Amino acid sequence: MNVYDSNRMADIAAQEGYEKTAGVEEADLIILNTCHIREKAAEKIFSELGKLRALKNARRKAGKATTLVVAGCVAQAEGAEILRRQPAVDVVVGPQSYHRLPELLRQAQARSGVIATDFPVEDKFSRLPAVAARGAAAFVTVQEGCDKFCSFCVVPYTRGAEYSRPASEIVDEVRRLAEAGVREVTFIGQNVNAYRGAAGDGRRASLAALIEMVAAVPGIERVRYATSHPKDMSEDLIAAHRNVKSLAPYLHLPAQSGSDRILASMNRRHRAADYLAIIERTRAARPDIAFSSDFIVGYPGETDDDFEQTLNLVQAVGFASAYAFKFSPRPGTPAAEMKQQVDDGVKAARLAALQALLEDQRQAFNRACVGRLFEVIFEKCGRHAGQILGRSPYMQAVFAEGPSSLIGAMVEVKIVEAGPNSLRGQVVSSAS
Ligand code: SAH
Ligand code: SF4
Repeated sequence: MNVYDSNRMADIAAQEGYEKTAGVEEADLIILNTCHIREKAAEKIFSELGKLRALKNARRKAGKATTLVVAGCVAQAEGAEILRRQPAVDVVVGPQSYHRLPELLRQAQARSGVIATDFPVEDKFSRLPAVAARGAAAFVTVQEGCDKFCSFCVVPYTRGAEYSRPASEIVDEVRRLAEAGVREVTFIGQNVNAYRGAAGDGRRASLAALIEMVAAVPGIERVRYATSHPKDMSEDLIAAHRNVKSLAPYLHLPAQSGSDRILASMNRRHRAADYLAIIERTRAARPDIAFSSDFIVGYPGETDDDFEQTLNLVQAVGFASAYAFKFSPRPGTPAAEMKQQVDDGVKAARLAALQALLEDQRQAFNRACVGRLFEVIFEKCGRHAGQILGRSPYMQAVFAEGPSSLIGAMVEVKIVEAGPNSLRGQVVSSAS
């Protein structure tokens, strides 16, 4: 989502006459897009801002002005606190207001410390410039915000209430991207499978319906979506994995924990068995599907036994890749206030154990890919001459010997070797 938002802000800056510079030292406008999901991410911003203040001062001495903008969820959550901690900042803009950047930049010319962190009623997306294509793969935001209020999570507070973009607007955007050479779209949203967009006929389109519409757009060869909540894994979405050939056989479905007690305390509204049942039904619909997930260790009250159940769930599924995080208490969330916070040493040991298991599963999955034929969309040249680099249906990096003319095309590739972080393939034929 932040990559998408950063690109959109770059599109706005371009419309205002800015151009991308080779390095930050040359930039008249610097926008830091920020993440508030865990404390580590949020704290990084202030050390970065300290460096940018020094840069701004040095540029001022050379007679050059610099506008410094903090965008994203830290901007939303901290607002004026950012200006207090770092007065060199000119504009603070939350994720729901960045379409107002041109006006905010103009205000900043007159006075420093402009803040925009309200949740405006106007539609951000209809006020943004047309999205620019950047290569063969593109993100498309279809849904924003979240009404789930998992007890550890800041998203409902920083991104606001759930909102789905109208289906026709998304299909038009994808059509334009396809005409500009995009072959793969990834629908993004904090809670993407809760998508219920206006369908134009007075009804609402589900994510499954939207996938079908976009799969029919000429030029679009692969569709993905992230991130999903188990509670919203509806039957029609599972069926789409059977019916829509271009829907990638890959699902990122955060489980967070394998313990029902912890899941209840997290307000996840599903049990471990429900999660496993979804995996089973989706596998039945699409046998070659692979799964990825997110896990939190050291959530308040998590015992050795709870953690053991998380390991059991991971064993039961077998993930192609997954992320594990230490619980990070976030200001304003219920879990931050809970008693029985877990000791950091225990969190670190559990994180290491879980990550080791997930890494074993990832390597096993990669090895099992050797000998398979994959459709790879090549995106750029590799590090060595004559090499091209792309992504497999399972999001693995795949490199192969081949002409750069294959970049931007979907190509059939035979996987011949699995390295720790990428697969090596041989181009078999160009599928498109
Ligand atoms: N909407 C998605 C995920 C959003 S945040 C979902 O419902 O699962 C991305 C991931 O960050 C989450 O899946 C969770 O694993 C992790 N995360 C969120 N809040 C966290 C916190 N306070 N501490 C540690 N990890 C957290
Ligand atoms: Fe956060 Fe996802 Fe839960 Fe929403 S569903 S509160 S985004 S973890």
